[in-house]
Amino acid sequence: MNPITIPFNKPAYLAEEVDYVKEVLNNGHLAGDGVFTKRCNKLLEDLFDTPKALLTTSCTHSLELSALLLDIRPGDEVIIPSFTFVSTVNAFVLRGAKPVFIDIRSDTLNMDESKLEEKITPKTKAIVPVHYAGVGCEMDSILDIAHRYGIKVVEDNAHGLAGKYKGRKLGTFGSMATQSFHETKNISCGEGGALLINDPEFNERAEIIREKGTNRSRFFRGLVDKYTWVDVGSSYLPSEILTAVLCAQLEGIIKIQKRRGEIWQQYETELSNWTEKNGVRKPFIPSYCEQPYHMFYLLMPSLEKRTHFINAMKEKGIMCVFHYLPLNTSDMGLRFGAKNGDCPVTEDVSDRLVRLPLFYNMTEAEQSKIIEEVIKIN
Ligand SMILES: *Cc1c(COP(=O)(O)O)cnc(C)c1O
Repeated sequence: MNPITIPFNKPAYLAEEVDYVKEVLNNGHLAGDGVFTKRCNKLLEDLFDTPKALLTTSCTHSLELSALLLDIRPGDEVIIPSFTFVSTVNAFVLRGAKPVFIDIRSDTLNMDESKLEEKITPKTKAIVPVHYAGVGCEMDSILDIAHRYGIKVVEDNAHGLAGKYKGRKLGTFGSMATQSFHETKNISCGEGGALLINDPEFNERAEIIREKGTNRSRFFRGLVDKYTWVDVGSSYLPSEILTAVLCAQLEGIIKIQKRRGEIWQQYETELSNWTEKNGVRKPFIPSYCEQPYHMFYLLMPSLEKRTHFINAMKEKGIMCVFHYLPLNTSDMGLRFGAKNGDCPVTEDVSDRLVRLPLFYNMTEAEQSKIIEEVIKIN
């Protein structure tokens, strides 16, 4: 076995990150909500044309914050795709909700909106679409159903920064949306996240919960003359050391996205013949979606072929990885009453999907090597 020479991911590294971190260390404000947090909030608000963005310590914490804001309680139900990261569901389960898993479409691998209405009960409190690989869910139908039943939508937009659905930015459809700046995402600071608030009814309480349940933010704006404990809350503020790194990355988003786009297109073009010959499916992007080039995946014909693919690539020092295991067949999912077979598309896709390395600092030589090794496999 060769050592891994091309990893699955390397976090983007521009140049300004170090200077910004030095600035923070020199000015001595290391806690949250300093100049770099404010710069990042502003960059996100401009990027999304959204009224409010709050940085958090992770997408997981943004999801938890959204569950607190929606007052999710024991007995509530939340509709979540089975094909997602555990945090999407944990955030609501932590508040006592029962997850109701919905299957995915076989083309985009997003929540199957045609199955949404049948999952709704009087207990349904939220619908949480996940824009898989940053390709937009069918938001027209999802929002229409949500509005008809008076149910809130929280978009898990961890993959979707800079993606669009019918010309509108992902992350601006739900009452709230959550972003991730984990090192595996396009833009990162190691661990980090943001909550985008599109529905202003949540603005004030979001600040309070994020400030440990105090009205400290209002105090700093001079709106109250002392700050005190007013609600439940927790600590979701990232340190300025992290937001300095994030600020450099957000400022470089055009550069990062451009390079990721080139790499993605190269895979798409160079692997076309091979995928056709071998019955492998490439990502499907509807014409009305703009994707943020978060992921290049292949859907192999079978689990055996995928295992062979991953091993053959590893043999050559190239790390390719599978993705989510169905939540409905997980130990926790079964405990909530889900069953094997509930989400047949998820269960099938989960066995066959493999992701190719895709990162900003990938060299052309590295990508050529990956493509060369892929097309040797049959
Ligand atoms: C990465 C990811 C998360 C969690 O992000 P963290 O910032 O690591 O908490 C949640 N949902 C999805 C879909 C993700 O891909």
